[in-house]
Amino acid sequence: MGDWPHRAAVPGGIIEIVVGDITRLAVDAVVNAANRTLLGGGGVDGAIHRAAGPELLAECRTLGGCETGEAKITRGYRLPSAHVIHTVGPVWRGGAEGEATLLAACYGNALALADAHGLARIAFPAISTGVYGFPPEEAAPVAVGTVLARLPDISIERVVFCCFSAGSAVLHREALETLTR
Ligand code: ADP
Repeated sequence: MGDWPHRAAVPGGIIEIVVGDITRLAVDAVVNAANRTLLGGGGVDGAIHRAAGPELLAECRTLGGCETGEAKITRGYRLPSAHVIHTVGPVWRGGAEGEATLLAACYGNALALADAHGLARIAFPAISTGVYGFPPEEAAPVAVGTVLARLPDISIERVVFCCFSAGSAVLHREALETLTR
């Protein structure tokens, strides 16, 4: 399929950039760009809940929500992936309100949780770049940079950036090339 997937060996593992629907991926955990209630929403959150089935919402109801930048894990139910790691991205408010730090925390805390559960393969959507309004060209280097920094120290072997458009995938590939040059 043209330029995708794009694969690169980096210190500590493999980074893969794909274009597609994260609910179709079979990995150990898919990351959900959730909201603080963890009770479902639109975008990738809605797609994950629809594909996983009502048991996912039932488990999420037991979690008591999630703060921005934090992450919580559930089972994946009817998804091809065994687990869902729910994280809450920052809403973009112009960039001077700690948005980049909070976005990096989403990626870092999701990776740490996956590592704590001994998982090897994890897939991320482009957190905060939909309804939450984070500029995609600023989000991609934060996402890729955080993964590159953490990968050498954790159990994760493969990180998939599951982009919903080719434009988003290009931004992740450019960030990867810039940060590994
Ligand atoms: P947020 O509220 O964090 O911005 P959104 O779900 O609105 O979350 O968007 C986050 C990103 O997920 C956007 O780039 C959007 O295009 C993408 N997206 C939406 N549905 C899917 C899906 N099924 N698989 C992968 N990415 C998706």
